[in-house]
Amino acid sequence: MTAAVFRNYIDGRFAEAAATFDSVDPSTGAAWATMPAATAADVDRAVEAAHRALRTGPWASMTATARGKLLVRLGDLVVANADRLAELETRDTGKIIRETRAQIAYVGDYYRYYGGLADKHEGAYVPIDKADMEVTVRPEPIGVVAAVVPWNSQLFLSAVKLGPALAAGCTVVLKASEDGPAPLLAFAELVHDAGFPAGSVNILTGFGQDCGRRLTGHPLVARVAFTGGPSTAREIVRNTAENLAYTTLELGGKSPVVVFADADLDSAANAVVAGIFAASGQSCVAGSRLLVERSVKEAFLDSLKRKAETITIGDPQDPATEMGPLATVRQRERIEAIVAESLAKGGKLVTGGKRPDGGASGFYYAPTIIDAGSPDLPCVREELFGPVLSVLPFDTEAEALTLANDTPFGLASGVFTTNLGKAHRMARGIHAGVVWINTYRAVSPLVPFGGYGLSGLGREGGLDAIRDYTRSKSVWIRTSDEPIPDPFVMR
Ligand code: NAD
Repeated sequence: MTAAVFRNYIDGRFAEAAATFDSVDPSTGAAWATMPAATAADVDRAVEAAHRALRTGPWASMTATARGKLLVRLGDLVVANADRLAELETRDTGKIIRETRAQIAYVGDYYRYYGGLADKHEGAYVPIDKADMEVTVRPEPIGVVAAVVPWNSQLFLSAVKLGPALAAGCTVVLKASEDGPAPLLAFAELVHDAGFPAGSVNILTGFGQDCGRRLTGHPLVARVAFTGGPSTAREIVRNTAENLAYTTLELGGKSPVVVFADADLDSAANAVVAGIFAASGQSCVAGSRLLVERSVKEAFLDSLKRKAETITIGDPQDPATEMGPLATVRQRERIEAIVAESLAKGGKLVTGGKRPDGGASGFYYAPTIIDAGSPDLPCVREELFGPVLSVLPFDTEAEALTLANDTPFGLASGVFTTNLGKAHRMARGIHAGVVWINTYRAVSPLVPFGGYGLSGLGREGGLDAIRDYTRSKSVWIRTSDEPIPDPFVMR
């Protein structure tokens, strides 16, 4: 047993776990905390509690305004506790403290946004084409939500699910990733302190096969909100074949960043570096494919190489650190294998491609740039989820667009140009859920987010997200006092 012990939060109580596992600090490789491994029985208890809360008790009878106030209070608590949560996320995932602090402080705004929306999501009065009928449409909570998140940015990825789900009146069982669950299990204390009724929000962690599968396939679950990789997404779709839960999927990416010769190249270089090396590349929107106009390619690569080689790599808890370790040892092994294969198949290493000096025991990997030469190399095709940028040149705008869309993914993209018409044409032509023009990695609770193709189904964020957690009920009222006539004629 390690010094820090975390517990699942089920039916308003922090539950002792029958089974546990160790969580490893990726900057040292040492176990630092004991985590609960939710069993099938724990999952059943959580889903049953969520189902009870949906049907009976204080949550079921709460007004939308009251739910909104709870969400705003939760947002305030997240902000007040951002430093503590950030330290936990950095400890458990290796993500640098600068980034976890800034991101978690912003997570509060997601809860406030959906708190504000809770009583503004209106139904409808239908001007029905029958004189003796009144029809209203009520948006009702869809039911128990199973929310499943991956290890990176767990508080953020949970907020885009919990916020609209709770605003809509659903109840939730949230499964933290088995990698780096500490910040979400600590966040459960804030849910409790905010005053959410027992069973309305349940937070647990455990492994995909026992806990995730049981949860997403549970007969009482009506809605699954998943973020993770495409192969897990396919398993989840299979899990939901029995309960027919309405499912949204936020998956991976191989996002292109297109740099035209007419761009502000220094600014573009900073954005490209941040787009791929922030969070050590473990970001679904990582700009991992650089497409650069051939006439400026060499100069641009020189600039990127200089910037990549001066990134400060080190202890993720040190505010001066710019890049930390990868979250898991298996993540580094996978990246090493794909980089080696890509170099063997003709890719040219511009920088990196190895473990950095120092930090021997942690899961570090140097910022890496590969001049790919061919769009068929594995480093161009596969999502590495690490600090590896693959570079391809292009000569014309049409070729840039073809290369940008040469992927089964379609999550994010960036375009750098000072030509307004070109920016609009590229924005129209790129198959991705997000196009950033002369910027990269901007997000907001007000803006929908999601992918095309293998990057997912559905959108999170923005006004429509709350609609995705409701289903409409049409209520027909006959107003006539006359007896119902001939029953065999449809009206
Ligand atoms: P993953 O798919 O391996 O795991 C995600 C979650 O699914 C974990 O909680 C895991 O325990 C659970 N899981 C695993 N098997 C399951 C099963 N059979 N049934 C139910 N749940 C199961 O993903 P990961 O490796 O932890 O995270 C990286 C992936 O997440 C990358 O592909 C990344 O691009 C993606 N991601 C996407 C977004 C987005 O918003 N589009 C954001 C962040 C990360």
